[in-house]
Amino acid sequence: MSKSSLVQLVVPADEGNYTKGRSGRNIEAITIHHMAGRLTSEQCGRIFQTKGRYGSSHYGVGYDGSIANYVDEEDTAWTNSNWDSNCKSITIETSDNDNSWYINDTTLNALIKLVADIAKRRELGTLVPGKNLTWHSMFADTTCPGDYLRNKMQYIADEVNKINGLGLTEEKTTEELAREVIEGKYGNGEDRKSALGDRYAEVQARVNEILAPAPEQSVDILDLVRKTIRGDFGNGEDRRNSLGSNYEEVQRQVNLNFQNGTINWGNVRLY
Ligand SMILES: [Zn+2]
Repeated sequence: MSKSSLVQLVVPADEGNYTKGRSGRNIEAITIHHMAGRLTSEQCGRIFQTKGRYGSSHYGVGYDGSIANYVDEEDTAWTNSNWDSNCKSITIETSDNDNSWYINDTTLNALIKLVADIAKRRELGTLVPGKNLTWHSMFADTTCPGDYLRNKMQYIADEVNKINGLGLTEEKTTEELAREVIEGKYGNGEDRKSALGDRYAEVQARVNEILAPAPEQSVDILDLVRKTIRGDFGNGEDRRNSLGSNYEEVQRQVNLNFQNGTINWGNVRLY
């Protein structure tokens, strides 16, 4: 038995609507489908419980974001209209929002979480649309999953790869990632950690460096006193302007040095 822990309910498909086992194939892809209707994940599952339907999917994501399991991942759901593809895929039906093929964000975000979970457990690696993230119209003459969802494939892959901490290592420098973190691209806390995966520690260290407050400019008063005595800052207004906010203290120290008989460079000190 194998299914995602994100599943809120199991609506087992009728045994005549899928095939036991994987016919010797390995799971290599996740295939996205569209319910062509506004359904909860439970309502979709009821359809696959109908005898003689000869169709099913592994999962469904409802318009309400609910996630249900219909066919065990170890078995072959009949979803892609292509036997080889069915044997190699885990398939997901996604609910319409308003019968326009549009998928609302609640549904889309639940779909992304589910895809991320499957991709991670099945070790599918970095998801690439058209390779290991597929959709129904790749295998059959169908409008499924519709323009909206098909145009979201790269977005889905990007989000999933972020969640699983993949697709970053080779492409971006620590500096680039640190800048993106500061721009808010990876969120905070656990979100950031999981998005950056094994790059987290180095990137976070760089972020901390960038965001650290600039160290207080420590003023070397002794040096200023020496230079003042040497004449570097002139006199009167010139000296006042050159020394700015340090003028009072430097002048006080200069006076103390003279009063205490400092006679050469090496003796200049702070009092
Ligand atoms: Zn489909």
